[in-house]
Amino acid sequence: MRRLFCSCGGELFFDSKTCVTCKSDVGFDIQTKRFECISNENKVRRCQNGVDYGVCNWLSAPNSATGLCYSCEFNRIIPDLSRSKNIEKWQILEAAKKRLLYSLLKLGIPCITKWSSDKYGFVFDFIEDQRTNPDISEEYVSTGYLGGIITINLNEADPVFRAQQKEATNEIYRTVLGHFRHESGHHFYNFIKYFPDLDLEYQKLFRGTCEVDYEDALKDFYTYGPKANWERNFITPYASAHHLEDWAETWSHYLIILDSLETAKEFGLINETLDQCDIYAKISRWQDITVGLNEINRSVGIEDNYPFVINHTTIKKLALIEELTQKLKSHLPDLAIY
Ligand SMILES: [Zn+2]
Ligand SMILES: [Zn+2]
Ligand SMILES: [Zn+2]
Repeated sequence: MRRLFCSCGGELFFDSKTCVTCKSDVGFDIQTKRFECISNENKVRRCQNGVDYGVCNWLSAPNSATGLCYSCEFNRIIPDLSRSKNIEKWQILEAAKKRLLYSLLKLGIPCITKWSSDKYGFVFDFIEDQRTNPDISEEYVSTGYLGGIITINLNEADPVFRAQQKEATNEIYRTVLGHFRHESGHHFYNFIKYFPDLDLEYQKLFRGTCEVDYEDALKDFYTYGPKANWERNFITPYASAHHLEDWAETWSHYLIILDSLETAKEFGLINETLDQCDIYAKISRWQDITVGLNEINRSVGIEDNYPFVINHTTIKKLALIEELTQKLKSHLPDLAIY
């Protein structure tokens, strides 16, 4: 994430709604990737979801008929707002979703709603299930991806629920942002078929000889745990469940590395910009930084910042993901990229 400032010079953060220095209301403009002061003189408006519910700090898209921002246009189903705490949870999901969209737009890959392209776009459903809302017909809604629809269970915004799930599934990380990144990985996997050379590489690196049915593979994972010695070939235990999950997990780490390195550069922790580094240099800088970050966290007394080891196979997988993102910048020209 880049460093952000108010027109008064005060420092702002990606989630800022007001400037603590000059007290102005501010809104993020995704086109310029800067904050603007929202005032009568300045003809910009806050997104309607920010005005009505306080869940969005972006500016309404220019000429928008709905008054929504670029990010809120991606919402297909929003939470039931008559239920207490749902606005609070929705805001947590919105904040993570915006970080994801920011990263995807920075990559310059097709990041459009399913309303504008049914073939290449995606949308979000934020839903509850009977575990928290007895009025809902679904007993259990899992966070997941299907045909351009990213479903996030609203309960993931509840830290207690998330911690319980993390324990139950023995995960190393479980974050709201991680869910968004992971599910977006499933979406962008769809694009690999447009590039036969990359698809071939995918078959070698990810699919391998895995012929197990997806549902059976997940059932096995939840019954017997990760593959033995998963650390040698996968970034997380869950990645060893099935090659599609391996792709989504590795994609998620690609975004973690990119976003974190951008932040590191902005705060002077590395010298090079991302454009100056190929994937191998990026991974190497990231590995250098995380040793220090983990030590700092241990000094503070909290869990490691990045408790993962990037093995050689994962490096090759990350390189394939970078190649796909680079190709997607110049291909599929029929797409209007925002
Ligand atoms: Zn200010
Ligand atoms: Zn919005
Ligand atoms: Zn997945």
